[in-house]
Amino acid sequence: VNILAIESSCDETSASVISNGKILNNIVATQSVHEKYGGVVPELASRAHQQHLIPVVHEAIESSGISKKELSAIAFTKGPGLMGSLMVGVSFAKSFAFALGVPLIDINHMEAHILAHFIDEPKPEFPFICLTVSGGHTQLVLVKDYLDMQVIGETMDDAVGEAFDKTAKLLGLPYPGGPLIDQYAKDGNSKAFQFPISNMPDLTFSFSGIKTAVLYFLRDNLKENPQFVEHNLADICASVQYTLIQTLMQKLKKAAKQYKIKNIAIAGGVSANSGLRKELETLAKEFKWNVFVPKFEYCTDNAAMIAMAAHFKYQNGQFCGLDVSPEARMKI
Ligand code: ATP
Ligand code: MG
Ligand code: FE
Repeated sequence: VNILAIESSCDETSASVISNGKILNNIVATQSVHEKYGGVVPELASRAHQQHLIPVVHEAIESSGISKKELSAIAFTKGPGLMGSLMVGVSFAKSFAFALGVPLIDINHMEAHILAHFIDEPKPEFPFICLTVSGGHTQLVLVKDYLDMQVIGETMDDAVGEAFDKTAKLLGLPYPGGPLIDQYAKDGNSKAFQFPISNMPDLTFSFSGIKTAVLYFLRDNLKENPQFVEHNLADICASVQYTLIQTLMQKLKKAAKQYKIKNIAIAGGVSANSGLRKELETLAKEFKWNVFVPKFEYCTDNAAMIAMAAHFKYQNGQFCGLDVSPEARMKI
């Protein structure tokens, strides 16, 4: 069984070929057009997908050593994501599957972020709790089986990736700023400045408060010292990152306790964060958790995770029709 998978939910155009459950490649074209805008511009994203998709798919097929005629199915991201971006991937997948006479497999992007854990060893055992932290989502998911997942907690406002990116923007860093905050934080003191840790009930997250706190903090300090950011960049990054990580860990600990689960995974773009990874290792020792962290290339958006999810759906015979439409707000 050979499946070609396409990811186009946001600003990464990606294609991957999976053969009998083994990922053969993962071609990713990142869109740089958004850097100067401090965020993804939807219309520019869909146009860039149109430009990148065919070369990316071509490269994935060429480098896999599998011919188009040997493909058993075409998989694509149905949602959630930007409507225009999803539309490009969905339309291409439909036409390609129709032309080849093979079935289509629709994939939920958030489920795929979690299923990225099954690409390489070590693979988490069911049931496990996954903390999915990305540009658009912050979720605690109880994963009972490959295709049986339940959201047990999520954010009521901003995603944690958004909090990283918005903080970076306030600091004058380019988009996406999350990885840059991670880098600067390495040389900073995480206790230099204090920001509030939100106190939402149950397993609910909130990140809008810290965003506002950072905004006022910078405004007040810049009034007194116009060079405040330049002189304190590492400390500011370390302190904000520390607060964001503590906010996440507080709820993760609560979820693990409540559901009595010791298999803990993280997924999504923010799971690339080195501070988060380190904190998780510390908690693993304290609570005797088995912690699972994906490889860097499978944290941020990629088609390999879509291909992995498609492998499981193919095994279950779960296909979709040519009349399928993208769903911007698709739920797990
Ligand atoms: P979603 O998956 O919710 O639809 P998305 O696809 O835009 O959103 P991802 O590609 O999974 O999100 O993740 C992108 C996010 O990850 C961005 O907010 C980016 O800043 C953040 N990110 C990536 N690397 C790091 C890092 N090392 N530290 C902190 N944040 C990071
Ligand atoms: Mg992205
Ligand atoms: Fe994503």
